[in-house]
Amino acid sequence: MHEDLWQAVLGEIELTVSRGSFVTWFKNTHLVRHKDNVLVIGVPNVFIKQQLERKYNDLIVELLAKNGMHPERVEYKIHAGLVQAKKTDDEPMILGRQQTDQSARPAVNQPNTTVLTHSYRQGLNERYTFDTFVVGSGNELAYAACGAIAQNPGTKYNPLFLYGGVGIGKTHLIQAVGNAVLANNPSARIVYASTEQFVQEFVDALRFKKTTDFAKHYRSADVLIVDDMQFIAGKEKMQEEFFHTFNALHQANKQIIISSDKPPSEIPTLEERLRSRFAWGMQIDMQNPDFETRCAIIQTKAHMHDAVLPTPVVEYLANLVQSNIRELEGALNQLLAFCEMRGLAPDLQIATNLLGGTRSRPKHISAKQIIERTAKYFQVPMEDILGPKRDKDIVVPRQIAMYILRSELHLSFPKIARELGRKDHTTAIHSVEKIEKESSFDSTIKAAITEIKERLYA
Ligand code: ADP
Ligand code: MG
Repeated sequence: MHEDLWQAVLGEIELTVSRGSFVTWFKNTHLVRHKDNVLVIGVPNVFIKQQLERKYNDLIVELLAKNGMHPERVEYKIHAGLVQAKKTDDEPMILGRQQTDQSARPAVNQPNTTVLTHSYRQGLNERYTFDTFVVGSGNELAYAACGAIAQNPGTKYNPLFLYGGVGIGKTHLIQAVGNAVLANNPSARIVYASTEQFVQEFVDALRFKKTTDFAKHYRSADVLIVDDMQFIAGKEKMQEEFFHTFNALHQANKQIIISSDKPPSEIPTLEERLRSRFAWGMQIDMQNPDFETRCAIIQTKAHMHDAVLPTPVVEYLANLVQSNIRELEGALNQLLAFCEMRGLAPDLQIATNLLGGTRSRPKHISAKQIIERTAKYFQVPMEDILGPKRDKDIVVPRQIAMYILRSELHLSFPKIARELGRKDHTTAIHSVEKIEKESSFDSTIKAAITEIKERLYA
C-alpha cells in the first residue's frame, strides 16, 4: 500500500474526529508496511499505540475498507524515527507533557504530508507562508495587517489580535508572519506557541521550579505569536503570567500577535486588564471566504499537488465545504488520493460519489446526550452516574459530564446539579473546577473530554 492511501485515510479520520484528537492520536502516524495481509502503522509512543488499538482500531479498519483496503490485521508499532529531534534539552520528558506538546503543535495535519517532511523552526511550520495563502474576501484585511507587521515588526498594530472561526486560516497567517520575519532576519527570535502549550509549559515550569526560565524564554522574543488565546479563559494564573509577558514585550517594542476563535470581549473570564491591552493594537475579524475565494483556494491547493481539476469539481468542492478551509483541504486531498491510487482523472461523478455523504454536524446536543456519551465512554451505567454511588470510577465520569455540560451547553451550576440528580450546586462548581484544572495536565482526562465531545458532534 502506498503511503498516499494512508494519508487519504488520515484525511477522513480528520473529518471524523475532533481536531484535538486528530493531532494527538493520528498526526504522527505513518504507514510502515503492508505485506501478507498485515498492515503496520508506525506510531510515536506506547500511549498512542494503546489508544489506536483500543479506541480507534474499528474506525481505522472501516476507513481502510472504504478506501479499498481489507487487511486481515492492522498492527501498531512504535517507530523511533517519528519522535526524533522533537525535544530541546530543557524540556522535561514526561509522558503527559509529550502528548500535550504534540497536540499543541501548529496545524500540520494536512493529510498529504507526514511529520517527517516538516521542519520546525521554533515552532513554525515553514509551509505556512504568505505565498501559499490565497487572499480574498474575508481575509484581505488580516493579510494586509500581517504583511505590514512582517515588514516592520513591533512598530504598528501591536498587538495584532486576529479572530475568526475554525479552519479559516488564522494559524497559517500568523505563522506566515514568523516565517517572513525570519526570512528577512534569520537571527530574529520568533516564539510561536499555542495557548495550550503556553499553559502547559507554565504548569511544568511551576512543577519543575523553572519559572524563571519560562519567563525568560517568552520575554526574550522579538516576535511572540500566541495561537488560540480563547483557551486562556478561566485560567487566572496564566492570565497573570501572560499579562506580565505582554507588558515586558510591549514596552520593549517587540511584536505580539494573538489569535483566537472569538474577540477579546467574548472570551469568558478574560481579565479586564488583558482585554484592554488587547485593544491597544488592532483587532481583526476573519470572515468565511466567499465562493470565489474558496474556488481559488481549491485551485491553488490542487496546483500544489500538480493536479488539475475541472471547474465543476472545483465548484462542487467549494459548495460542499463553506467555512472551514481545513475541511475543504481534507475533502480535496481525499479526492486526489482516491484518483491517484486508481489512476483516474478527477471528475464530478467521482467527487460526488466519494464526498457526497453529509458532513454536517447537528448543532443541538442535549444534556442527556452528554451524560449518556460520558457514561458510554467510561463504560459505566448511566443510572450510576445519576445515582448516589461515590466510587471513584463513577465519580470521575460524573464530574467530567458536569464539566462538559458547562463547557458545551453553558448551563448554570444549579441546572448542572439537577441534570446529574444532585441537590447541591456547589458540587457542580467543585466538579467543573476540578476537571478544568486536571484536564490541563492530566492527559487521560483531556483525551476523555476530547473524545466524548468529538462523538457528540460526530
Ligand atoms: P485556523 O488556525 O483559523 O483554525 P488554519 O490556519 O489552521 O486555520 O487553516 C486551516 C488550513 O486551511 C491550513 O492548512 C491552511 O493552510 C489552509 N488555509 C486557510 N486559509 C487559507 C487561504 N486563504 N489560502 C490558503 N490556505 C488556507
Ligand atoms: Mg489555528
